[in-house]
Amino acid sequence: MADQDNLDPTMLAAFRASEPRISRRFFARRSSTWLLAGGAMAVMTACGTGSAASKEDVAALRKEIAAIKAGGAPEGDAKAADAHGAEKPGAAGAHDAKHWAYEGEGGPDKWADLAPENLVCRTGATQSPIDIAKSQPGAGGRTNIKWQPAGLSVINNGHTIQADVANGGAIEVDGVPYTLVQFHFHAPSEHTVNGKRFAMETHFVHKSAQGELAVVGVLHEAGAANDALAPVWAALPKTTEDKKAVATFDCASVLPKDRSMYRYAGSLTTPPCTEGVRWQLMQSPTPVSDAQVKAFNEIIKPNARPVQPMKARDVLKESIWKLLSPA
Ligand SMILES: [Zn+2]
Repeated sequence: MADQDNLDPTMLAAFRASEPRISRRFFARRSSTWLLAGGAMAVMTACGTGSAASKEDVAALRKEIAAIKAGGAPEGDAKAADAHGAEKPGAAGAHDAKHWAYEGEGGPDKWADLAPENLVCRTGATQSPIDIAKSQPGAGGRTNIKWQPAGLSVINNGHTIQADVANGGAIEVDGVPYTLVQFHFHAPSEHTVNGKRFAMETHFVHKSAQGELAVVGVLHEAGAANDALAPVWAALPKTTEDKKAVATFDCASVLPKDRSMYRYAGSLTTPPCTEGVRWQLMQSPTPVSDAQVKAFNEIIKPNARPVQPMKARDVLKESIWKLLSPA
């Protein structure tokens, strides 16, 4: 049986400090033990000395956790999940009243209350997205893009349209390789620049061998049609049951010509808002047409999390970004 010392201390501290319901009921009891399964809280059990009351509490928590899991808790390592939570469309109970959303009862200001693993959505120090209001010249950091044309499997997960990429190459952030896993869209944009919101934003999500995430973001300004995105737009799945294949797609074609970027330490922009995500946001927007945004929003309602406090972060303005062919 695991004990509390095996848990991520940051996560444990966050639970104790910020989840009075669970702290009160469970952390006061030394007879309780937490197990972490795959980076997300999965189950809690009482050790031998538990009182009858604590056993009831544990049974209640088990039930709660089962409900959370059925409702879309991360499967496997939270960091290995995609950047839009690890929700599986169509899972039983996935769309109950407490499910996360972009407005209403499950809206962004409630995310932290919907599941214990979402606490960092409220308590985190490096949440995304942010408003890029001030930036400073980067000092020595380097992101190399080594993408290659690849096949896509385009899905609708209910929160975004996501293109899973097979063999799409990788990026290197300060020498650390991150494999391209998927890309997806937000309309309107999630990041803002000096308060300006853009019509759309594409997120290219990468994962390192250690399960760390790095995202390349591209802002899209209302204007001409974005030809690079046309093959994906021709395959937008209308429902969560729908899945479309794109035989080959060149992700680099979505990038602006000027590859200067902002870099900062952030998080997933959807529950569970996991931190430790390395963000690189292209400074130059590329266009997207009203018709393209409309086609997206007809399937996916506006899906931008509000900008989060900067707290102690710096944004680096990086301009030595390079596009390299795959090794
Ligand atoms: Zn995103």
